Amino acid sequence: MDFERFKLPKLEQKRPIIIAGPCSAETEEQVLTTAKALAKNGVQIYRAGIWKPRTKPGGFEGVGSEGLQWLRRVKEETGLYTATEVATAKHAYEALKYGVDVLWLGARTTANPFAVQEIADALKGVDIPILIKNPVNPDLELWIGAIERIYNAGLHQIAAIHRGFSSYDKKLYRNQPQWHIPIELHRRLPELPLFCDPSHIGGKRELIAPLSQQAMDLQFDGLIIESHCSPDNAWSDKDQQVSPEVLDVILRKLVIREMKQSTEDLVDLRRQIDDLDNTLLEILAKRMRVSQAIGTYKKEHGIAVLQTGRYNEILEKRIMNGEKLGMSHEFMRTILEAIHEESVRVQIDLMNND
Ligand code: PEP
Ligand code: MN
Repeated sequence: MDFERFKLPKLEQKRPIIIAGPCSAETEEQVLTTAKALAKNGVQIYRAGIWKPRTKPGGFEGVGSEGLQWLRRVKEETGLYTATEVATAKHAYEALKYGVDVLWLGARTTANPFAVQEIADALKGVDIPILIKNPVNPDLELWIGAIERIYNAGLHQIAAIHRGFSSYDKKLYRNQPQWHIPIELHRRLPELPLFCDPSHIGGKRELIAPLSQQAMDLQFDGLIIESHCSPDNAWSDKDQQVSPEVLDVILRKLVIREMKQSTEDLVDLRRQIDDLDNTLLEILAKRMRVSQAIGTYKKEHGIAVLQTGRYNEILEKRIMNGEKLGMSHEFMRTILEAIHEESVRVQIDLMNND
């Protein structure tokens, strides 16, 4: 695929390209007030959701086509380019009719090849920039598949957005970053510009700055950040939105380092190791929590901590599975024994303390 940079005449291609704006367009006043403040911050493209995919019915599902007129006003009055999410062919037609400059596919849409194809067909031959978010599930092929469907419809001004991957465990992140996936996307499609959406990865405003910095250090081309003139009163995603003033501070503090070509591969690989180690630690901590819950149960029911039969079975099966995955018998035994020893220690501790 031969991707083209966004052909927006006033767009500065310098890293990072900033897209910012509210999760949702709510009222004409909120849309314009936010846009006017952001226009002063080096933001180049204004985002606002007009149609909102909601997990459950009954929530705010977006203002619909009416909001497209507000985006047109944003463009006229601030000079910002405008962007919105399209999830159906109808959305695509409407957005084009009102002159939206940039479209994006949401994570739920990318996960659905029928929906992506429907939008690709609706946009056939229209030369408009389009951003494609990763699917909600960590499936790189599905992400690339969506990019190919759009590309095959003749749209070559494409960029990808990394917005994290859905998981049952939402302790730290709303969506797990799993940085190795966008890194692998970059390895497979080096010409494809990459944006990071720290708002939807973090789910909390205090995570926007560190996640944005991480994306910059990984050589992402741009950021898409949710910003609202009154974040606490936002009708959707209020915990992860920041005011234009706070966004300004976040952007000023970003350190942009350029990478030497020769070490780029090594840095990528090291980042993957960092990321995988963090995932390992999170999983280990989760395992310890489950082990604690088992300890509590054993205590309440007068069951001994060490159940030799169960331990032998775990050890045998896990070592076999580990070997199938290419790891040595000795390594698997060492790791499993260390984990088991710590679980037993935690459970014995629990037994002897009230
Ligand atoms: C959004 O950008 O507001 C949105 C709905 O994001 P996602 O598709 O990443 O969930
Ligand atoms: Mn949102």
